[in-house]
Amino acid sequence: MSDGPTRQAVIREVAYYAGEPNTRPESARTISPLQTAVAEFGEDVFSWRAMRERLPKSVWKAFEKTIEHHAPLDHALADTIAAAMKDWAIERGATHYTHWFQPLTGGTAEKHDSFMHPDGQGDAISAFSGDLLVQGEPDASSFPSGGLRQTFEARGYTAWDPTSPVFINRSADNAVLCIPTAFVSYTGEALDQKTPLLRSMDALSAQALRVLKFFGSDLGVTRVFTTAGTEQEYFLIDRRYYLSRPDLMLCGRTLLGAASPKDQQLEDHYFGSIPDRVLSFMAAVETELARMGVPVKTRHNEVAPGQFELAPVFENSNIACDHQQLIMHVLKKQAPRFGLQCLLHEKPFAGVNGSGKHNNWSMATNTGINLLDPQDETHSNMQFLVFLCAVIQAVDMHGDVLRASIASANNDHRLGANEAPPAIISIFLGEMLSDIIEQLETGAPGHTKKVGKLDLGAMTLPMIPRHSGDRNRTSPFAFTGNKFEVRAVGSSQSVAWPNTVLNTIVAESLNDIVGQLEHEAGPKPTRDKMEAAVRKVLKQVIKKHKRIVFDGDNYSADWHKEAESRGLPNLKNTVEALEALNTESTRALFNRHNVLTPIELESRFDTYREQYTKHITIEARTLLQLARTLVNPAALRHQSDLAEAVAGAEAAGVACETLRQVLEEFCDLADRFHESIADLDAKLVEALSAPHAEQHKRIHALVIPAMADLRELADELEAHVADDLWPLPKYREMLFVR
Ligand code: ADP
Ligand code: MG
Repeated sequence: MSDGPTRQAVIREVAYYAGEPNTRPESARTISPLQTAVAEFGEDVFSWRAMRERLPKSVWKAFEKTIEHHAPLDHALADTIAAAMKDWAIERGATHYTHWFQPLTGGTAEKHDSFMHPDGQGDAISAFSGDLLVQGEPDASSFPSGGLRQTFEARGYTAWDPTSPVFINRSADNAVLCIPTAFVSYTGEALDQKTPLLRSMDALSAQALRVLKFFGSDLGVTRVFTTAGTEQEYFLIDRRYYLSRPDLMLCGRTLLGAASPKDQQLEDHYFGSIPDRVLSFMAAVETELARMGVPVKTRHNEVAPGQFELAPVFENSNIACDHQQLIMHVLKKQAPRFGLQCLLHEKPFAGVNGSGKHNNWSMATNTGINLLDPQDETHSNMQFLVFLCAVIQAVDMHGDVLRASIASANNDHRLGANEAPPAIISIFLGEMLSDIIEQLETGAPGHTKKVGKLDLGAMTLPMIPRHSGDRNRTSPFAFTGNKFEVRAVGSSQSVAWPNTVLNTIVAESLNDIVGQLEHEAGPKPTRDKMEAAVRKVLKQVIKKHKRIVFDGDNYSADWHKEAESRGLPNLKNTVEALEALNTESTRALFNRHNVLTPIELESRFDTYREQYTKHITIEARTLLQLARTLVNPAALRHQSDLAEAVAGAEAAGVACETLRQVLEEFCDLADRFHESIADLDAKLVEALSAPHAEQHKRIHALVIPAMADLRELADELEAHVADDLWPLPKYREMLFVR
């Protein structure tokens, strides 16, 4: 008799791996999820290591130059690389490949082609050439282009980005090789998020290298990369509720819904223990992302009930932005497997916190040095101070463009709502750096403030070292130890655009500062001369731009007043913010650094305005439908019930003054609700009849207030209508059923 596993055990194991609940076999327990995750990390990404192993040495050497120094790749090598990619992908079950790109929708796009190719003899072979790898040709007219592409001039190209590794995207029984690509029009204009991002990284690298050269610290450095680490907040709700809420399905947020008596007041959700179902979901998300080489690291409950966060380890901005898209994709994709729906909208629920994306940003050399690391004796770290002051100057001069880069109809609900940073852009530096900046302004900085250790007062607890500055969660742009953190980015947004802007404005600022330094110090300066030049130039920079630095409470009303007196812009909404993209100075800025031509910038300005209008129009139409076909019938039924009760009481000769009053008040409320529906309808028609370039302004001025009025009345109705008549899942259910 065999002493292998019994038949039942085998059946059980198969059932387990097929996903049947409660069938976990003994053998499964011997491998921990961590072991699996570590073993499978990067299985579905054609990593640099895997490429090195599979490519002929000479090809790898050439390719390495491209990824490390961003040197152009010889087209003749593409066939060899394509063949290696195809073999690797087919071994992993891939049947198709796609050029994967990021149009101005904010999401990603793909069109699959099979590796299978008829051989002309009645059979088929698998084939994939260098040409197919390098270039694709999607129809450009069906993507947002802000008027750059008309339907009759549809041609567009995708171009392989060799600096972001290809990966496999899996569904239950399909695998597709995804090739990160840029997307441009037939005439070469960027129609995507990646092209300007890559250009902005080139621009920043060129200027940062000049700074390193000035300090003589450029040994072995051929490239400065920007780095990004993005913390993603999201909501999870039971999918059945999602499917019963047309507003969530069409708009990603609840357009109406009365507050739950309990939401986040008790502050008991943040960092609370993670519910079982959610934890299983998180683990599945992490495993899938890890397979694709996305280095996920952190998970926790966020402030609002039903809200969570995921954070990866930072990477070079280009790869980080691609990976950020994958994070959003996998979160949405995995949730239904657990009966959940993942909401990435910036404000799915009124009255509780919305979701953002903290974009941690720094600059690092190809030799691995973080240029925003202040080190111990910061006051004497002149090179760091130059980079720091360049960021300060950049954000002061072009804070409005940064603000525009995070503007969207969704994010308008969040910014300035006392839960997220205000729409006023300022910089938090913390105690130590603020002190050094002050020293720089008044003379030569002589010391670095030290904070010492924290004594917790109990014998057994360790003395813990303190950070050089406290945290400030209210700041939109905070220095956090060795990087800046842009906190105002929206949760559903692509981070490529804010990173592009950040890189560009810092490149501009570095260009200005290093130009002055070179001029002041002259050729081959001595150490003293160099330091004198730095002190002189930075002193001016600080004098001029210190108004942007604010370490206090950004939520307070005092700050709004103070910011106004400092002359800092307060661009409260998307309509105001987008205007920053439509100025001569912004056009010159992007043009000078070859990031966007004036035409490309204009197409973005147009696209974002149009998206705003379309977005709010969809919301208004959805709200009208909900109001007319769901809320109104429920209200009418409730009204009839009340009327029947009054009539019944009166027929029975029972005094029912109070009840009659309830009925009268309800009828009045229902009347106002009807008027409000008619009002929203009229305002929408009026706004959309404005000329194209004005529509977004009219939508903002007319439709948004009308939607708010209608919602208020709908929520009041919800508070009165019998629970069994209310047709939509309520906040208390969506937020608390996990
Ligand atoms: P927090 O205190 O905000 O949670 P963490 O130290 O956990 O900050 O880091 C948050 C994010 O910042 C992570 O994604 C992390 O990888 C990223 N990060 C850390 N260092 C850098 C850097 N030099 N450049 C860009 N991102 C970074
Ligand atoms: Mg953070």
